[in-house]
Order: sequence, then C-alpha cells, then structure tokens
Amino acid sequence: MSDYAKLLDAGREAVMLASGVCREVQASLEQVRQITKDDRSPVTVADFASQAVVAKVLTDQLGKDVILVGEEDSKFLRQDEHRAHLEAVTAAVGDVFKGITADEVLELVDVGDGDPHHTSFWTLDPVDGTKGFLRGQQYAIALAFIERGEVVVGAMGCPNLPANFNAPLDAPDPKGCVYEAIKGDGAYEIVGKGPPTRLRRVDVEPGAPISVCASVEKAHSNVSDTDRILEYIKEHSGHATGEPVRLDSQCKYAVTARGQADAYLRMPTRAGYVERIWDHAAGSLIATEAGCFVTDIFGRALDFSKGRGLEDNKGIVCAPPRVHGLVIGAIEALEIRPA
Ligand code: AMP
Ligand code: MG
Repeated sequence: MSDYAKLLDAGREAVMLASGVCREVQASLEQVRQITKDDRSPVTVADFASQAVVAKVLTDQLGKDVILVGEEDSKFLRQDEHRAHLEAVTAAVGDVFKGITADEVLELVDVGDGDPHHTSFWTLDPVDGTKGFLRGQQYAIALAFIERGEVVVGAMGCPNLPANFNAPLDAPDPKGCVYEAIKGDGAYEIVGKGPPTRLRRVDVEPGAPISVCASVEKAHSNVSDTDRILEYIKEHSGHATGEPVRLDSQCKYAVTARGQADAYLRMPTRAGYVERIWDHAAGSLIATEAGCFVTDIFGRALDFSKGRGLEDNKGIVCAPPRVHGLVIGAIEALEIRPA
C-alpha cells in the first residue's frame, strides 16, 4: 500500500467517525442548548468533539508525531465557566471512544495546534459551515494532508448531503455522503456503507445551461459580483445561467465535482479577508481529481504553503475547464479586482 493510501485510510476513518459524532450532537441540539445555556453551543460541542475524534484516529493509526493544523484549540474548554461544554464534548467523544476522560479530550483537541510551516501536515475543519449545522442543513468535516504547499490527500464527510440529485439540498439526508481523493488517483464518493464510486466530471456542452453554487451567508461571498459574472456569461457565451444554488460548507466542492452544479464561486466580500486553508484543502483536491479546475478568482493555483491562510490567493473559482474559462474571462472583462 502506498504511503498516501495509508494516510487516506486513516483520514477516511477519522471523518467517518467524526461525522457520526456530529450527527449525534445535531440530533440532540435542544438538549445540548439546555445543558450549556447558549444557542450556538451545539456547534461548539460538535466542533471540539469532531476535532478530538479526528486527532485520536490519526495519532492512533499514524503515531504521536502527526502534525495537525485544526481550526480549534482547547482554551475555551479549559475555562471554569465552560465546564458544561467540556462535559458535553467528553460525552460526545465517549460515544465512539468509551471511557475517554475530559483531560484526554483536552489533550486531543490540542493535537490540532500543529505548525503549518512544516513540509507536510494535516489540516482540519472539524465542522465547516457552522451556520448550516445550526440550521440542520449542510456542513462538512473536512480533512486533508498537505505536502510542500499542495494538497495530496483529502477526505470529507458531508453528513446531511443527499446522494440523490432530486432530493432537497436544504434538508438533512439520513445517510449523507463521504468524498475522498489522492492526488493523481481520482476522486471517489461513498454513500452509506456502499463501495467508493469514482467521480468523473463531464464538462458543460457549448450552449448548455450553467448552474452555479455559492454560500448561503451573504457575508462570505459577494452576491452582486456573482450576479454580474453570470449575467456576463449569459450575454457573451450563449449559456443560460440561473439563480445560484445556495448551500453551506465545502459540500459546494462536492456538488460541483459530482456534476450537480457547474461551478462553485466564492467572490471576496471585503478587502483583506484571507481564506483559511481548512476551508478549501479537502474540497479543492476532491473537485480537482474529479476533473474540475480550482483556482482563485484571478486563475492562480491555490498555494497552501503560506501558513493558516491562503495569503497569496483571493476567492475561489471551481468548475470544469470550459466553465472555469468562462468565469475567469468574465472576471477579467468586468475588471473585478478586490483589494
Ligand atoms: P460558507 O459555508 O461557504 O458560508 O463558508 C464558511 C466559511 O466561511 C467559514 O468556515 C469561515 O472560515 C469562512 N468565512 C468567514 N468570514 C468570511 C468572509 N468574510 N469571506 C469569506 N469566507 C469567510
Ligand atoms: Mg469552515
């Protein structure tokens, strides 16, 4: 087995277990709110529990010297006033690792405090799309392995994402999907306990309609720039374009990779915002390996060698080659140049 296959086996198991834990927390949203007396707390509990579960699987399978750059750290959980949160997180992790203690959970969360300036490391968004999680809609557990600035292994749990394109995207699916990829070896979808099936993204035919997906949160992607791009493509290319499909999290990469949407556009909303590596590492590899191009809005490759942020990139354009070219062309023609 190649080293990458071994990493993917560990990564897949980690996101599958973490997805189950997030599902359990989501099923008991009200109960968690009551225990912790705060509306956002279910996502907080799921975030920490997911990061601890991923850290445990990776260190158990690959050794204690695993470097993990996670979104969370344990500061919040170590405060006395958040004791109830720590207990809820420990109970959630205990569902899969019986008898785990609060101290062990704190240590596991802190495994995610790795330094992103190493040659290779894992990066994790334990619950990507927190607003989607709280609404009972789409969210993802996104884990990837980065080597010399490039993503080489990705595994992503999408617990509420239906495999069936006709099912509504804004409601939770009972099974969900998992996506995975190794650089150069293709991207795969796993539904329930089924076998992995390869994703082969077909490009949009000349003149066929183009559907786009984007964030639900208007603060995360510029709505008017997206509308201008779609209008420009409609006028200049003969492709009809409709209203974007809106969903939270890196599920947008999966939906584009599997051919349900023809592009994922993330247009910067404010000068100075730097995309976080864990928001794009797993999803961008999965989409690329399915046959999409993934770049920033200026057509530049994503550079994961700059620490916790994509410092040298602005926004995201993910689409099969023809559509990618149309979008980048429209951005140039419209002179969209966020600071
Ligand atoms: P989405 O699910 O597409 O709305 O993206 C969720 C991610 O957006 C979160 O994980 C945040 O890291 C990220 N985010 C927060 N603020 C911004 C912003 N101003 N622009 C772009 N992304 C943001
Ligand atoms: Mg995120």
